[in-house]
Amino acid sequence: MSQTRVLVTGAGGFIGHHLVNYLKEKGFWVRGVDIKEPEFAPAAADEFELLDLRRWDACLQAVRDVEHVYALAADMGGMGFISQFHAQILHNNILINTHTIEAARLAGVKRYLYTSSACVYPEYLQTEADVVPLKEEDALPAQPQDAYGWEKLLTEQLTYHYLHDYGMQTRTVRFHNVYGALGTWEGGREKAPAAMCRKVAMAKLTGKPEVEIWGDGEQTRSFMHIDDCLEGVYRLMMSDCSDPLNLGRDRMVTINQLADIAADAAGIEIEKVHIDGPMGVRGRNSDNTKLREVLGWQPQIPLEDGIARTYVWIEDQLRAKLVADGVLAGDGASAEPVVKPA
Ligand code: NAD
Repeated sequence: MSQTRVLVTGAGGFIGHHLVNYLKEKGFWVRGVDIKEPEFAPAAADEFELLDLRRWDACLQAVRDVEHVYALAADMGGMGFISQFHAQILHNNILINTHTIEAARLAGVKRYLYTSSACVYPEYLQTEADVVPLKEEDALPAQPQDAYGWEKLLTEQLTYHYLHDYGMQTRTVRFHNVYGALGTWEGGREKAPAAMCRKVAMAKLTGKPEVEIWGDGEQTRSFMHIDDCLEGVYRLMMSDCSDPLNLGRDRMVTINQLADIAADAAGIEIEKVHIDGPMGVRGRNSDNTKLREVLGWQPQIPLEDGIARTYVWIEDQLRAKLVADGVLAGDGASAEPVVKPA
C-alpha cells in the first residue's frame, strides 16, 4: 500500500515540528516547510524545505504531489508580540494563507487543515475573568482581538468558501493556548506557559524569588498540552467535520494560578510582582461540547502534569544558556549562581 503524502507548513515551529514527528509515527510520508529550520531538534520529515510561503512560487513548490496539507505557518507569538506588530502580522499571514490554499487547490490536494485560534472570538464576550466558555457559533458577529484574530477569522471564511465553491475538503481548528517542550521560551514571541516556566526557572537558578506577572494576574485562560493538540488535530483532519472546531482544554485558571503551578513544578516558593504589560482579554475558556460530539474525545492531560514536563525542558534550556553566558558556574547539570565580588 502506498504511503499518503502530507505537507506540514510551519514545520520549523513549535506545533509543526511535533506534528511532523506524530505523522511520521502514523506512517505518513511527510514534507515539512518553513522559513526557518526547527530550533531545538532536527526535523524527522522525509523532506524539509526552507521556503517563504508569502511567495506564490514557494507555495506551488510546497504543495506539489501531496494529498493532505496541515497549514500551520504563521507570523505569530504570545501577547507581547501579537499586541504590537499588527500590520506585519496581518500582511504576512494573509499572504501565507491565501497563497497556500490556492496552490493546494490547483495541486488537487484532498484534505486541507487550517490552524485558527481562539483569538477569533469577540472581545465583548471576554470581559470577565469568570467568562462563559466560548462556543464555535459565538465567533460572529465579529470583534476579534488584534489583527492576528482578524486574519484568523478572514482565513476561516476563506476555507469555508473553498469548501462550498470548489468542494475542497477543508478543516478548521481553533486552538486554545497550546504549550509543551520545544516551543519558543524566550525572545518576545513566547506564550504565557513558556514565559512563566522560564521566569520560575530563573527564580530557582538564581535564587531570586521574584517573578514578574503582566497585570494583576487574575485574567483567565485554558491551556492544552501539545500531545493532546496533536491527537485532536489528526482526529479532526480525518473526520468529516468542515466547520470550525475548538481544540483546547476547558479548565480555566488565572495567570497567578499558572505561576503557582510552574512554581510547584520547580519545587520553589515564588514572590509574584505585578507589573504593567499586555493582558489580552480578561477571560477565555473553550466550550468543548462540539469537540466531544465530533471527535468522540477531548484533551486529557492535566495542566499540572503538562507544565511539570514543560518546566523540566525549559529549566534545562535556561540553565545551559546561563552557564554559556557566565551567569551560572558549573557544567550545567549542577550549576550554582556566580557570586560577583562586591
Ligand atoms: P510557531 O511560531 O512556533 O510556528 C509557526 C511557524 O511558521 C514558525 O516556525 C515560522 O517560522 C513559520 N513561518 C512564519 N512565516 C513564514 C513564512 N513566510 N513562510 C514559511 N513559514 C513561516 O507557532 P505555533 O505555536 O507552532 O503555531 C502553529 C499554528 O497554530 C499557527 O498558525 C498559530 O497561529 C496557530 N495557533 C497556535 C496557538 C498556540 O498556542 N501555540 C494558539 C492558537 C493558534
